[in-house]
Amino acid sequence: MATLGNPQNTIAVLQKYKFNFQKKYGQNFLIDIRVLEKIISAADITEDDFVLEIGPGIGTMTQYLCEHARAVAAVEIDKNLIPILEDTLSVYENVEIIQQDILKIDINRLVQEKNEGNPIKVVANLPYYITTPIIMGLFESHVPIESITVMVQKEVADRMQVGPGTKDYGALSLAVQYYAKPEIVANVPSNCFIPRPKVGSAVIRLDRYKEAPVQVKEEKQMFALIRASFNQRRKTLVNGLNNAPDIPYGKEQMIQALEEMGLPANVRGESLTLAQFARLSNLLSRF
Ligand code: SAM
Repeated sequence: MATLGNPQNTIAVLQKYKFNFQKKYGQNFLIDIRVLEKIISAADITEDDFVLEIGPGIGTMTQYLCEHARAVAAVEIDKNLIPILEDTLSVYENVEIIQQDILKIDINRLVQEKNEGNPIKVVANLPYYITTPIIMGLFESHVPIESITVMVQKEVADRMQVGPGTKDYGALSLAVQYYAKPEIVANVPSNCFIPRPKVGSAVIRLDRYKEAPVQVKEEKQMFALIRASFNQRRKTLVNGLNNAPDIPYGKEQMIQALEEMGLPANVRGESLTLAQFARLSNLLSRF
């Protein structure tokens, strides 16, 4: 089987199997070798690595992963792609194709069974309609992960990377930055895919922290505060939190906590750093 990362070979495979793209699965296949090489080198895959690929499509990136990694598990939801993958990956003995929905599979169990619970690397050209649940699911369920290197919508990559004071800053930025150090490694134009997505894309690498960058007593509460303050972005932090049903503190307690942090009572959530949200959560825990 020829290398797939170019338009001719990709179209040949699609025609051979009379494959119809399914929009609902976010299918945009990569057809640019330079982009594929960039992803593999950014992910820093070595022959010791166990790699989880989410959404292998027709196996374009999977071929590269198989060449570089010790073992690859590729989870694909679309049944129609399985016979194609069995063909395009037939020469590789270090790959397992799993026909499943990535949001339903027990990834911790997979890592336990296939990699003795040791940290894995995740590499993917993600289906954009479920980027956030996939990434947050991996972090929140504490899957042992060294790094996640993924193609995502450009705007989402920006949101993951920015700090306070920008319009893209929000709950996703803080959640990602609590678990990992983000770095955008490439911007990718639409003509590198077939069919072309309507949005720009970017490759982002998330390096999982071994220890969280901030100390927080109640992780769940901190994330509830973050979500509530960005749900009501135009309100002051105190009013936003006061309207949130899952935040049990009164206005006076919040104002007192903000005062102790040297922040004014009318501060907005979007100007707080991760460290400040952690401190606020810790101060409120006393009440
Ligand atoms: N990796 C291929 C490439 O780069 O050419 C395909 C990437 S395409 C953007 C996303 C892939 O994810 C598709 O193959 C799609 O069928 C698959 N997919 C979509 N939703 C999924 C889910 N919930 N679980 C697993 N795979 C999914």
